[in-house]
Amino acid sequence: MTVLSGVGSKRAEQFEKLGVCSVGELINFYPRAYEDWTSVTAIADITEEGVYCVKARLATSISDAMIGGGRILSKGSISDDTGTLKVVFFNNRYISRMLAYGGEYFFYGKITFDGYGAQMVSPTFSAARDGVGIHPVYRSTAGLPSKTIANAVRNALKMLPETVGDPLPEQVRRHFDLCGLRQALCDIHFPKNSAALERARQRLVAEELVVLNLGMRSLRDHSRTISGVKIQRDCSADFEKLLPFSLTGAQKRAIADCVHDMLEKKSQMNRLVQGDVGSGKTVVAASVCYTVIQNGFQAAFMAPTEILAKQHYETFSKLLSGTGVTVALLTGALKESEKKRVREGLADGTVQLVIGTHALITDKTTFHNLGVAVTDEQHRFGVAQRAKLLSKGDNPHLLVMSATPIPRTLGLIIFGDLDISVIDELPPNRKPVRTVLMSGSQRGRIYNFIREEVGKGRQAYIVCPLVEEGETDGVASAEEYAAELMLREFSDIPVGLVHGKLKPDEKERVMSAFAAGEYKILVATTVIEVGVDVPNASVMVIENAERFGLSQLHQLRGRVGRGEAQSFCVLISDHLNAATKQRLEVMCATNDGFVIADEDLKMRGPGDFFGERQHGLPQLAIADFAETRSLELSQKIAEYILFIYKDLRNEELRLLNAEIDRLFDRGGHNTMN
Ligand code: ADP
Ligand code: MG
Repeated sequence: MTVLSGVGSKRAEQFEKLGVCSVGELINFYPRAYEDWTSVTAIADITEEGVYCVKARLATSISDAMIGGGRILSKGSISDDTGTLKVVFFNNRYISRMLAYGGEYFFYGKITFDGYGAQMVSPTFSAARDGVGIHPVYRSTAGLPSKTIANAVRNALKMLPETVGDPLPEQVRRHFDLCGLRQALCDIHFPKNSAALERARQRLVAEELVVLNLGMRSLRDHSRTISGVKIQRDCSADFEKLLPFSLTGAQKRAIADCVHDMLEKKSQMNRLVQGDVGSGKTVVAASVCYTVIQNGFQAAFMAPTEILAKQHYETFSKLLSGTGVTVALLTGALKESEKKRVREGLADGTVQLVIGTHALITDKTTFHNLGVAVTDEQHRFGVAQRAKLLSKGDNPHLLVMSATPIPRTLGLIIFGDLDISVIDELPPNRKPVRTVLMSGSQRGRIYNFIREEVGKGRQAYIVCPLVEEGETDGVASAEEYAAELMLREFSDIPVGLVHGKLKPDEKERVMSAFAAGEYKILVATTVIEVGVDVPNASVMVIENAERFGLSQLHQLRGRVGRGEAQSFCVLISDHLNAATKQRLEVMCATNDGFVIADEDLKMRGPGDFFGERQHGLPQLAIADFAETRSLELSQKIAEYILFIYKDLRNEELRLLNAEIDRLFDRGGHNTMN
């Protein structure tokens, strides 16, 4: 960094804090926002508060005054041909030297009005002779303001060779009308106008998504290695006889897809089973495990939470009792001695099926001959964790399950390395959950309704959002809420409470008591969001519903409507602006997870699908998963590249390959092998 003029070792350290350690990284440190200085407003035309750019001369010199707290207030006035305006700066004792009396500048900033007229507070400015443009705003830190970063970037760009190597070959750029890398880099930092900025952005986004797309594809090709797991016999028909119900057509198709992968293909299975909440993914996984076990291999099933692992363990144990298959549970909450016992069983092969949490992928866990690895609720695991589980065997088969309906374009990238089976059919006799939106003032009615349902032998969930520290206003904390209910409204009905801060064994005790019907009402935070199955529950009440994303609400709602009784979901909110109302009404209008996912993506972007970085994909610098059009374009470009060059190892793609390595490296990404 210190090769740049104006950057000494102290500056370099400040840059490092922003994650910028080299000139190359600085060039890729894109602005977080832009200020549009291209439209200049005449001072006389400013009649409302707002952000403006004016071109004006300093009509007075800047005067400094000390104000309370040892702060400096600098004031002056500026004028153009139409009028005069005050400018005010705080705590910058250099201002009076930076702005010369009579000099002409662009001033950009927020205009406010007080009794004496309009003033611009702490504007940014540049000499008028530098010309107008769109000014970059960088993520800055103390002592390293955006303007300083901009200067460093300007110097860095000067060092960029005229013919900088471009990861996108010319032919590809021409075909898709994308500008060259050099142009894009200059324009992303210092665009002349918004069209130039848009073109630069489009090009950089396309490149990043193409790199991601091709990277995911090559990951898939890598993982298609010869599997050491030889499956000869399809035992899914025997498994079906163990079930108390018959499988839906969609379940049968998903199982058949898996069996086909394992029996007919030389390489290992890499399959995603995607199905809405309640579509019955668990038995699909169970069937696959059963076949693998009957062929003499072990199976591992990884769930994202202790509660879910425990529940799956019970389901599997019950189903497989009498078949002679040995099933074990391995979670962090077990006693060390128990964990040790299970691990020994896995190492010597006496445990054939293990259900567990992340405890499965720690180094201490080894398998005798792992044949299939299943991950439930895949969006909760990163690609790297998936890979870690696979590394426990000799290229075992992989089955991942996800209830989160993911918009198609996004799915292509996130699960780009997997084949997909969709369970698009619910088990028979399911009645769609009826959803209503109510205000807190109607709580009395809602409680009466719960009482009626409990009277019919059913159960209810009441979900409260997590309380963030220092933020209790109007938000029902689960603990207080439950206490209140137990003491007053439902003093005669057993109420349980479960939240993330409980010890795992306590959490488990409450959940199993609820599943067994000992508690009729369960007050919970979103710990119950994922996968928990209590078919007898028929009411889901969600407090402060406006705090949840649609996909999350859909997951929560999926906890009811799992049995044959009509189920209900009540969304309670007292904070309904037009947008929130519209959002929550989508929930009332449809039970279709894909419709909800698309709406959610439109309204909130992709973060909500995965939580913070939960998708395990590399971190993107500029592209946004919510931009469907860019995702589609990148898909086309990737296909074009593979069509033209046949093989990623083609010499023309050398720079593109380097970018793939860089992107996946940055994300802490493990390859499959
Ligand atoms: P999810 O896809 O959300 O993981 P589960 O596998 O938990 O769904 O299944 C939801 C419920 O439906 C469970 O109680 C399960 O026993 C039941 N179920 C699954 N398949 C069928 C079927 N074909 N017929 C009837 N009930 C089924
Ligand atoms: Mg499930």
